[in-house]
Amino acid sequence: MIHIGREAFEMSTLLERTNSVQELKKRAAGNTSANPAEVAEAKKVLKRVYSWDEIPEWQRDNDFILHGYVKETSSFVDTFKSLFYMHNESVNIYSHLIPAVGFLTVLLLDKTTITVFETTTWLDHMMIDLFFSGAFACLILSSSFHCFKSHSLRIATLGNKLDYLGICILIVTSMVSILYYGYYDKFPVFCLFALITLSFGVACSVVSLKDKFRKREWRPYRAGLFVCFGLSSIVPIFSGLYYYSFSEIWNQIQLFWVLLGGGLYIIGAVLYGMRFPEKVYPGRFDIWGHSHQLFHFLVVIAALCHMRGVLNSYELVHIKMQNGIVS
Ligand SMILES: [Zn+2]
Repeated sequence: MIHIGREAFEMSTLLERTNSVQELKKRAAGNTSANPAEVAEAKKVLKRVYSWDEIPEWQRDNDFILHGYVKETSSFVDTFKSLFYMHNESVNIYSHLIPAVGFLTVLLLDKTTITVFETTTWLDHMMIDLFFSGAFACLILSSSFHCFKSHSLRIATLGNKLDYLGICILIVTSMVSILYYGYYDKFPVFCLFALITLSFGVACSVVSLKDKFRKREWRPYRAGLFVCFGLSSIVPIFSGLYYYSFSEIWNQIQLFWVLLGGGLYIIGAVLYGMRFPEKVYPGRFDIWGHSHQLFHFLVVIAALCHMRGVLNSYELVHIKMQNGIVS
C-alpha cells in the first residue's frame, strides 16, 4: 500500500514542464507510435522527487524518510521552483512561511492591531515589536532553510546554521519581552535577567554556528542544549516569587501562556530528537506528518501562546497604571 501510494505521488510530481508534458499526455492517450524508451527517458527528465537511495550522501539526514527528496539542484532557480510542487520539505517550508508573513503583518501594523492605552509609550511598541520581529526572523530563516537546503551542501550548511540562529533569536526576544512586563516596576531586575537571557542566547548561537555541532551525531545534544536554554527562562520567572506573590507572578508574567508555550517547544524538540512517528513507520510520513513537521507546528503554536502572554501582560500593566496601582 505504501509503495503504491508513493508511486502515485511520484507520478503526480511529474506534472510537467509544458512541452514534454503534453507529449507524455499524448502518448498516454494511446499514441502507439511512441517509443517506450523515449517515454521512459522523458519521465526521467521530468522526475522531480527522489528516494533516499537516489540522493547524494550529504543530503541523507533522516533514514526513516524514504522518499520525496528534491535532489541537489545547484541552482537557486530550480530550488525556488520546488516551492510549487510537493516534496518532503513542502510542509516544513509553508508551516513557517505562512505564519512568518502573519507575524510580519502584525509587526508592520502594530499601532492598529494592538490596544493602545494613554500610558502606552514607544518602549511598549519596541518591546512588543521585539517579540514579533524575533518570531518573524525565526520563521523566515527556518522556511528559507527548508526551501534552499536542496541547492548544495554549502547552502544547506549555511541555512542550517541560520535556522538555529533563528531559534535563538526567538527565545531571546520572547523572554525579554515578557520579562519587561513581568518586572515592569523593577527595571534593574529586568535588565539583569534580560542580560542573562541575552548571554545564553549568544552562547547558543555561537555553538549553533560552529561546524562541529551540526554533525548528525550531535543532533540530540544540540536539541538538548536548546531545551536547557528554554528551561533557563524558569529562573527569572520563579525568582519573581522573591518580589511578588504567586498570583501576581501568574498574572504579570502570564505564566499559563508562558509555560504552555515552553511545554510545546519541549515536546516539539523531543519528537524531533526521537524522530517520531517516522521511526515507527519508515516511509509512511515522508510527505505528511514526520517529526520535523510536528516540531514546526508546535513551534508556531508555542509562539502564538507566547504572543498571547506578552499582549495580556502588556494590557494588564497599563490597566494597573491607569488605575494608579503601578507607575
Ligand atoms: Zn525546521
